[in-house]
This record gives sequence, structure tokens and C-alpha cells, in this order.
Amino acid sequence: TFESLPSDFFHLEASLSPVELDKLMELRTYLETEIKPVINDHWDRAEFPKALVKGLADTKLIGMAWPETEPFPTTAVFRGWVALELARIDASVATYVGVQNGLAMGSLGVCGSDEQRAYWLPKMHTGEIVGSFGLTEPLSGSDSAQGLRTTATRDGDEWILNGSKRWIGNATWSDICVVWAKDTADGQVKGFIVPTNTPGYVATKIERKQSLRIVQNADITLTDVRVPEANRLQKANSFADTATVLRLTRAEVAWAAVGIAVGAYEAALAYAKERIQFGKPIASHQMVQDLLVKSLGNITSSLSLVLETSRMQDAGKMKDEHAALAKAVATARMRESVAWCREILGGNGIVLDYDVARFFADAEAIYSYEGTREMNTLIVGRAITGHAAFV
Ligand code: FAD
Repeated sequence: TFESLPSDFFHLEASLSPVELDKLMELRTYLETEIKPVINDHWDRAEFPKALVKGLADTKLIGMAWPETEPFPTTAVFRGWVALELARIDASVATYVGVQNGLAMGSLGVCGSDEQRAYWLPKMHTGEIVGSFGLTEPLSGSDSAQGLRTTATRDGDEWILNGSKRWIGNATWSDICVVWAKDTADGQVKGFIVPTNTPGYVATKIERKQSLRIVQNADITLTDVRVPEANRLQKANSFADTATVLRLTRAEVAWAAVGIAVGAYEAALAYAKERIQFGKPIASHQMVQDLLVKSLGNITSSLSLVLETSRMQDAGKMKDEHAALAKAVATARMRESVAWCREILGGNGIVLDYDVARFFADAEAIYSYEGTREMNTLIVGRAITGHAAFV
């Protein structure tokens, strides 16, 4: 039976169906028994727990947005709660799912032809195929809508890709990478399913990261990489189609941000009840309670925000600016909260064994990826003023 999280202070999960609550509880049990005990060591060694791919696939919660894979009808609200549960245990695990489930499968789900969807999505659902999503480049991050330098040139029934990518999650070990490149004929951004064993595709792990160490991010070089026309995403005709994929995943990143704050808050609350200073638990000191309550306030207001965002998505009313506001606000509140939680642990707040240090460090990457706070602010700013202020 489902147990409500104490950090869901207003019992917002009450709107989920009994089947959904059972699924969430199944996921939580899997994460707490299989992932939580090993996650800090993997973080320390900057290693991804590969066994997780099958374990997560077996929960049938990967790829559930697409009819080709859906185990039961799901809503954006339910998928949001899944992102929260994942990030509550570990932000890197949530990021793996975000890339596989959201960015890679989302590219196929949104931009793939019926044949492409039917071929790739079921294999990705079971974890047989792991995907990555290659948009960002060394010289183009926030400005990727206009700044992409990777090129795609048509050559008969094939395309030749040239360029480089940076920060691509899973890309050192994924089976395919969805590469976004500019068509040299019409200048439009198009998407290509590139098997990672294609000659000319080289992915090198980015070392010495101090955030999301478990996620294997890569620098990729593409040198005369040939892919058949059948591997071009048939419904990706311009960057607007890429942006559709990003809008969907951005809302889920906002949920993951709440999950990270929840994970840090739960660890800090438990610690505060145990740790004795001045002869009593630090949880009984007023100023520690202040930090705990401010964190809970952030979690509660962000949870309400992401829930409403996903409800709009389910109603077909979510626009770019809604997902952008949710991501900008939820990640800013997360960043504030993990710092307060770290403060509650004093010195132990910087040691991996107490979990909060990991949430604190990982929050930084979540704050910046899938659109920085500035970019998401400018998306909302454009919507409310009618003036685009990006350039
Ligand atoms: P820049 O674009 O160089 O920005 C630097 C700073 O300048 C930011 O604060 C930004 O907000 C600010 N700035 C830029 N332009 C403006 C402006 N007009 N007005 C105001 N401020 C501005 N990408 C992928 O394609 N696939 C992935 O799987 C992936 N995974 C990632 C995982 C991690 C851990 C990280 C860190 C990144 C990942 N990314 C991925 C890339 C990520 O999306 C980019 O880092 C992000 O878009 C920001 O780009 P940038 O790092 O190049 O920063």
C-alpha cells in the first residue's frame, strides 16, 4: 500500500488513482532497496550503475508516454510523480530516465514516423536500446536554436554528418544518439538517429565533473558520419520540432528539482532529530526548525506549481512559457533548499555518506541543463511582454 511522503505536506498525491499509487510505491521500493544503498559509491567513482537499466525497464515506467510502449494509460501528472520519486533517491538516476525516456524516446515519439516509432520505441522501453540526445555543442549551448554548427549534407539515400557535441548524457555507452544538425541545403535543424558504432562517431567521457558525477556526459565528434535517410527523424523539419521535445522534458525536470529538494529535506530532517547539541536534538532549536520549514515551504509551493503545469499538459494547454516558468522557479527553490539542508548537517553536510552533499552538488547541474534560469526567464518574459530579449 502507498505511503504518503511526509514532505508532501498537503497530500497532493491524493489525486492519483489506486493503480498509479501502487506503481509509484513499487518504484519507490525498488529505488530504496536496489539503488539507494549503492549510489554514493557510484557517485564517488563517477560510475553509472548499468544494472539499473534493466531494473528500471522492468518497472515498466520507461517510455510510458507512447502508445507503442504504454503499460497502462498514463498522464503527465503521473509521469511527474515518477520523476520526483526518482530524483528523491538520486538526481543522476532521474537524469538517466530523463534522457532515455524523455529526450531520446521523446524525439522519436514526437518527430519519428510511424515506422520509426514502431521499430525503436519498444526496444528502448525494455532497455535493449539505450539512447542519448545530442543538441548542445562546444560553441552553442543556450543559443542552440540558431547557433548549431553541426551539419547534415544529403548524399543520395544517405546523410553525411560533421561537427561536434558537448555534454551529451549517456553518450559514452548508449546504443544510439539522436543528433541534431543543420541541413546544408535549407539551413533547417533536423534530427538523425545515429547508431554509436557508426564510423566517424567518437564519444569521450567528460571527466572531473563535480555535479551529477554518475551521469556519463560526453564530448562527441562526428567526422563524415553516414546515416541512411531512413534514420532521419521524418517529422523533424525545423528547430520548432526540437523545441516541442524540450518543452515536454522541461516540465519533468521541474518535477525532478522538487524530488531533489525532497531527498535533501528528508535526510536533513532525520539528521536533525538524531544529532544532539547543547543537550538536545538540533531539531528542537528554533533556527534549525526555521531552515526545515523554509525548505518544506519551497517544496510545497514548487510541488503545487509542477502539478498544475502537468495538469495543463494533460489538458493540452501547456505552452513553452508554462514549462519554462515551472523549470525556472522549481530549480531556483531547489537550489535554495538544498543549501539550507546542507547547513543543517554542519560539517557532515559536505560528506557523501549523509546524502545531502550529493543532492547539493547535483542540484547545480539540474539548475543549468534543459535551459538555464536565464533562458527560461526570457521565454516567460517574451510571453508576458511580447518582446523577445534573447539577442
Ligand atoms: P551558455 O549557453 O554558454 O551560458 C552560460 C551563461 O550565460 C548561463 O548562465 C546562461 O544563462 C547565460 N546566458 C547565455 N545567453 C544569455 C542571454 N541571452 N541572456 C542572459 N543570459 C545568457 N545537452 C544536450 O544536448 N544533451 C544532453 O544530454 C545534455 N546533458 C547535460 C548534462 C549536464 C550535467 C549538463 C551540465 C549539461 C547538459 N547538456 C546537455 C547541456 C545543457 O543543456 C547546457 O549546458 C545548457 O543549455 C547551457 O548551455 P552552456 O552550458 O553552453 O552555457
